[in-house]
Amino acid sequence: MQFIETRGNDGVHPNEVSFSHAILSPIASFGGLYAPSGLPILGLAYLEAHRFSSYKVFCADLMRTLCIDIAPETIEAAVSLYDRFDDAAQPVPVIKVGEGIYVSELYHGPTRAFKDMALQPFGHIFSHLAQSRGEEYLILAATSGDTGPAALETFKNKPGVRVACLYPNNATSDVQRLQMVTEDGSNLKVIGIEGNFDDAQSALKALLGSESFKAKLKEKNILLSAANSVNFGRIIFQIVYHIYSYLELVRQGEINMGEKVYLNVPSGNFGNALGAYYAMRMGLPVQKIIIASNENDVLTRFISYGTYDLRDCSLIATTSPAMDILISSNIERVLFDLFGPQRTREMMHSLERERHYSLSAEEHELLQSIFVADFCTGDEGKSYIKRYFAQGYLMDPHTATCFKAQESCASEGSKTIIYSTAEWTKFSPTIASALTGALGIHDLEALEAIATEGKIAIPAMIKALFDKPIMHATVIDKADIESEILAFI
Ligand SMILES: *Cc1c(COP(=O)(O)O)cnc(C)c1O
Repeated sequence: MQFIETRGNDGVHPNEVSFSHAILSPIASFGGLYAPSGLPILGLAYLEAHRFSSYKVFCADLMRTLCIDIAPETIEAAVSLYDRFDDAAQPVPVIKVGEGIYVSELYHGPTRAFKDMALQPFGHIFSHLAQSRGEEYLILAATSGDTGPAALETFKNKPGVRVACLYPNNATSDVQRLQMVTEDGSNLKVIGIEGNFDDAQSALKALLGSESFKAKLKEKNILLSAANSVNFGRIIFQIVYHIYSYLELVRQGEINMGEKVYLNVPSGNFGNALGAYYAMRMGLPVQKIIIASNENDVLTRFISYGTYDLRDCSLIATTSPAMDILISSNIERVLFDLFGPQRTREMMHSLERERHYSLSAEEHELLQSIFVADFCTGDEGKSYIKRYFAQGYLMDPHTATCFKAQESCASEGSKTIIYSTAEWTKFSPTIASALTGALGIHDLEALEAIATEGKIAIPAMIKALFDKPIMHATVIDKADIESEILAFI
């Protein structure tokens, strides 16, 4: 598989790059991204052949099928990291929660959110590439709360890489913040910034594009890369679980091979949904992809009306903070795939300059043949949490947004896979408030309240966070990020 640029080529960047190039240097011409130049069609025979494959076996085989320039033994070692999940034999359980509604639980990895699904194998591959080329990388990660812990966990003490992780201070849960600031790897730097996630992400994009910053790193023989979901090395591992979850429903006898299902994805930066899109393009039998949002409903409006519009629009802090995003970076790869590089560049430039772009009627129709969308308020989300808890299923506030979209978007009698992106432990104050009405309590108290209410145990690794020493106390202004990172280097 080769990669080309979503905004066309500037005559300086190479025309086409390999997978390893795309993950080590993820920024393409004109500030665009790398996307596959073509995708294989898997076909039902391929799915049939993997009907009984384990997650690891299927994942490694899909990587082979996608022909990426990574040695088989490196891929094997990368996918063996799924052994660190709760159940090595079943890292992604798929649970029936209602008539025709199945939840694919993507949060059973070391940091309890779905970011581990991709970052675990990605970290291994990245570090292996850096080492084998004798190179040293600084990896930047901007996080709304889940990418940070997962990136730190995967790169901790790995050779050839250092990580600088930016998180918005006061905008993550206690558990998320503690997962980051208690990390003790000597190659890790965690920095809180005054601002929201979009501020952290734009600071990261500015640094990635800054020639002077790169030059200063180069003096120290350090190259620059990013671990955000703009990196295709993450996207590729997010295709796997969509197909695997489908096969799991076939194995459970809930669907017939070839039967179409909805995939319902709680979306922020659109990495998870992009994985679903590629799976569909590769032939997974999908009716439509449902895009669930919170009060930051820019994706719902885009898919419903065809205009991506940030005018008169500012970020709202919600109870599903990992989805508090206005500029959803991975939409760009969908636009590129559907409408080509010229049009994508036009639209992205219009977004940067005028804060909006519109699809033509034909383009909009094409988009709607694939996606359908709705958004869910925090209160609506809490009512789904409460309702399903009463039936014995506990979910986090991000997952809850899918249940609203499910009611408005899925057709009668259809079947849907909902993706659960975080364990309840990461967003306990919201869940406790949904279940008991308690407001304004901190994570520790909320965890205990839910554990009592649900007669479940707080996982040991979450409890332990509250007693670990704080390793990273830095909280700074956006303007000081560059100097802070240079001081760490
Ligand atoms: C990152 C994240 C999301 C959003 O995923 P995208 O791939 O950015 O759309 C949703 N829920 C949780 C819990 C997350 O951590």
